[in-house]
Amino acid sequence: MLELRALTKTYRTGDKALNAVSLIVPQGQVVGLIGPSGAGKSTLIRCINRLVEPSSGEVILGGTALTGLSAGALRRQRRRIGMIFQEYALVERLTVMENVLSGRLGYVGFWQSYFRRFPPADIQRAYRLLDRVGLLDHADKRADALSGGQRQRVGIARALAQEPELLLVDEPTASLDPKTSRQIMRLIIEICAESNLPAIVNIHDVPLAQQFMQRIIGLRAGEVVFDGPPSDLTETALTDIYGAEDWAAMRKGDEEQGEAEAEQRRILARIGV
Ligand code: ADP
Repeated sequence: MLELRALTKTYRTGDKALNAVSLIVPQGQVVGLIGPSGAGKSTLIRCINRLVEPSSGEVILGGTALTGLSAGALRRQRRRIGMIFQEYALVERLTVMENVLSGRLGYVGFWQSYFRRFPPADIQRAYRLLDRVGLLDHADKRADALSGGQRQRVGIARALAQEPELLLVDEPTASLDPKTSRQIMRLIIEICAESNLPAIVNIHDVPLAQQFMQRIIGLRAGEVVFDGPPSDLTETALTDIYGAEDWAAMRKGDEEQGEAEAEQRRILARIGV
């Protein structure tokens, strides 16, 4: 379980990015974090693993307060948090297997990792994870030979190789087409359910969040202005989160995107693809 207590972040520039955010994410729950640009979504995710140092408040993961830990203790605790990134953050010239095993680097010693000698249990686990994300046949390929969706699957397997107690997911589908986005989101949801893992997913795509998330948190100007199931995310709630103008612009953007895709489908159908 993850608990945030009055988490606040004011940057040195004076920008108050988070204002006393309190929430609890129970085991197995996947929370979608939505909100306009600048609402504080990235800051929230980064304050949880202290890549950004909170100004005040507490982050408590499974009973341990991460806020207030020394640098060394924090490094050990960070293993408990798996990160999945928008741009996958793979080492392109390494193989898929090596990328997944890099999730174990927080556990093996320096020389072991230098010579890339991982314990057999880690290697077995990596194979199991590659099987789970549908990439067993690609274990020996270089990461740069994969498609975007496959790269994100490697990113997911690497995060799981850490045996995390929490997943932080930052716009995992922002670089993917709509179909692949849905597949990746489904995979994340299924894996969290199987492993009883809590997750926070920073997601800019509102329909995707509505389709897949059990709970949605809406941030606006560093404050939680919505917290509930997707069914409660009405037009009024969305206007509260995004503001009338931005929400109208986003909807228009979606419609245009939808029209562009429909046009593409019509062209493909005409030429018989
Ligand atoms: P989001 O992810 O929702 O777009 P961010 O967390 O990136 O929002 O930003 C929240 C606020 O904090 C914005 O006003 C942004 O300008 C500010 N901010 C973010 N990162 C920094 C930084 N490194 N230094 C100063 N201000 C920042």
